[in-house]
Amino acid sequence: MPKEQLGHIPEDQEDCIWWKSAPPGPEAVPLEEDIECDVAIVGGGYTGLSTAIELARKGIDCVVLEARFIGFGASGRNAGHCTPTFHLTSPDKLRQRLGREKADQLTRLQVSGADRVFSLIEKYQISCEAKRNGYLRIAHGPHRLDELRQKKSLYEGFGLEGELLDAKSAQDLSGSPRAYGGWLLKQGGHLNPTAYARGLARAAIQEGARLYQETPLLELNRTGKSWELRTPQGRVRANQALLATGAYAVGPASALLKGATHPVPIMGFASEPLPSELRQSILPDDQTLVDTHKDPILYKWTDDHRLVTTVYPAGRVGREPEPTARWLEARTKWMFPQIETVTFRHPWSGRLDVQPLTLPQVHNLEEGLWACVGFSGRGVPTASAAGVELARLLEGASSDEIALPVRQGVNKISGRLASLHPVVMTWNRTKDWLADRLHGGEAFR
Ligand SMILES: Cc1cc2nc3c(=O)[nH]c(=O)nc-3n(C[C@H](O)[C@H](O)[C@H](O)COP(=O)(O)OP(=O)(O)OC[C@H]3O[C@@H](n4cnc5c(N)ncnc54)[C@H](O)[C@@H]3O)c2cc1C
Repeated sequence: MPKEQLGHIPEDQEDCIWWKSAPPGPEAVPLEEDIECDVAIVGGGYTGLSTAIELARKGIDCVVLEARFIGFGASGRNAGHCTPTFHLTSPDKLRQRLGREKADQLTRLQVSGADRVFSLIEKYQISCEAKRNGYLRIAHGPHRLDELRQKKSLYEGFGLEGELLDAKSAQDLSGSPRAYGGWLLKQGGHLNPTAYARGLARAAIQEGARLYQETPLLELNRTGKSWELRTPQGRVRANQALLATGAYAVGPASALLKGATHPVPIMGFASEPLPSELRQSILPDDQTLVDTHKDPILYKWTDDHRLVTTVYPAGRVGREPEPTARWLEARTKWMFPQIETVTFRHPWSGRLDVQPLTLPQVHNLEEGLWACVGFSGRGVPTASAAGVELARLLEGASSDEIALPVRQGVNKISGRLASLHPVVMTWNRTKDWLADRLHGGEAFR
C-alpha cells in the first residue's frame, strides 16, 4: 500500500495511542487459497465488521478481506466519540433533501446508533474503555443557546431525550468556564476505537465469518453470476460483494468509488496522563465533550487519564505534529484554565470519508456489487448501525426498505462538492469568528 495512504503525517511520526492501548486483535492470517462464500466484504473497519457480524449471525457465509490490519483505517484512528446526532445536518434539513420517509428512517438509524454500539459491546463483552455517560454539547457563547434548544426539540421527536443545562451546570459538567449553557444527551458515550474495532472482529469470527488481514483486493471481476475477488495469494468467489473501504480505499475499490466521497485530513492527538485531581474537575462524569463552533473543539478522557482531541488542518496546525502539539497545549489550557501544564505527545493522522451533507450513502455499482461510504465524523455509531441495514440489503431487502439512502452508481458531483470541504471549513471558521465578535462567543484563536 502506498505510504500516503497512512495520511498526512509521516509514518515514522505517527503515534496513535489506541494502537498501543487496545487489547490485541484476533488472529487473522492472509488469504492463501481459493475460497467461496455468499458475501465478500472488502474493508475491516466498523462498516465491514458490523455487516459481517449481522450476516454471519443469520447464517450467511461471509468473508472479510482487509488490506492491512483490523482498524487500520478510520475505525482504528478516530477519537471514539459515540454521538447520537448528525454532524452538519439535522432531521429537518434531511427531510428537504431525502423526502420525509427516507430522512426519518435515517434519523432513527442515527439516533439508535449508540444503542447498537453499546449492545454489541455488552453482547460480545468487548473490552474497549466504553463509557455511556452522555454526550455534552456546550454553547460557546450566548448566541448558540437557541441552536441547542432547537436541536433538543427536533431530536426529541425521535425519542432522544436530552437535558438543557444552564451556564453553571454546563461549566460544572465540562470543567470549562467557556460554557454558556449545554445540552446533555444521556444516550451518547465514548470508547477506545481500535479496541472496539478489534472486538467487532472477534465477534464476527465468533459468529462464523472468515477474516483475512494483509489481504488487499487487487482485482474484481464478474464471472457468470458471481464476483471473483483476486488478492495477492488467493481468490474469493462470492455471490455478492460489499466495498466498505471508507476514506482508505485502494486498488479497484478506489477506482470504483472515485468521486463517491472525499477524503478530508484530520489529526488526532493524545496528551500525556494528567494528575487525577484534574480529572475530577474536567469532565468529572466522563462525558464526551464538543462545543458549538462549526469547527468544533472536542475532548474526551482515556482510562489512563489522557485528554484526546482532534484538529482539522489550518496552516501548520493539524498538518505538522510539533506546532500542532504546542497549539493544542495552549488551547487546552485556555479551555480548562485549572491545567497549569499539559503535554501533547502522541499524534496520528486520519481521513474522514466526507459527503456534502455528511451522510452515509449506499452505492449499487453493478448487480450484486455494493459499497457504503460517507460516514464523515460519525462512523462509531452510524457505521455500526449501518451494518444491520447493509446485511438486510445483501439478504434481498429493497432499497426502500432499508434506512440508508441507496443510489445506482456513483454521483461524481457529490465527490466534487465534498472536495470543497477545506473551503467550507474556512468559510465556517470565518462565520464563527464574525459571530463570536458580534455576540461575545468564547474562542481560542
Ligand atoms: C481522526 C479521526 C477522528 C474521528 N472521530 C470520530 C469520532 O469521534 N466519532 C465518530 O463517530 N467517528 C469519527 N471518525 C469517523 C469514523 O472513524 C469513520 O466514519 C469510520 O471509522 C468509518 O468506518 P469504515 O469501516 O467505513 O471505514 P475504515 O475504518 O476506514 O475502514 C476501511 C478499511 O478498508 C480497507 N481497505 C481499503 N481498500 C481495500 C482493499 N482494496 N482491499 C482490502 N481492504 C481495503 C482499509 O485498509 C481500511 O481498514 C473519525 C475519523 C478520523 C479519521
